[in-house]
Amino acid sequence: MTYVDGNAIIGALSIATGTDVSLADIVCGACGQRHGVAHAHVYLRCPGTVIRCPVCTAAEIVLVEIDHHIQLTISNVATIDFAPTS
Ligand SMILES: [Zn+2]
Repeated sequence: MTYVDGNAIIGALSIATGTDVSLADIVCGACGQRHGVAHAHVYLRCPGTVIRCPVCTAAEIVLVEIDHHIQLTISNVATIDFAPTS
């Protein structure tokens, strides 16, 4: 299965969280590595959209949109840093 980078999901995640996530970092709860949302691996053709850690491929966030209602299932995420300093 192929994936695209996290830029594909920034718009929907920004709507869902109410803030711009284009510079946000995710700390993977499975492997502990920090990565930018833009560097995540995004699988678009799953039931929902699956955002995976680019290091260990753990599923971090599943986004489902039905009738303009966005639902996020967050797992394997230790932290989402919306304004990283570095
Ligand atoms: Zn990981």
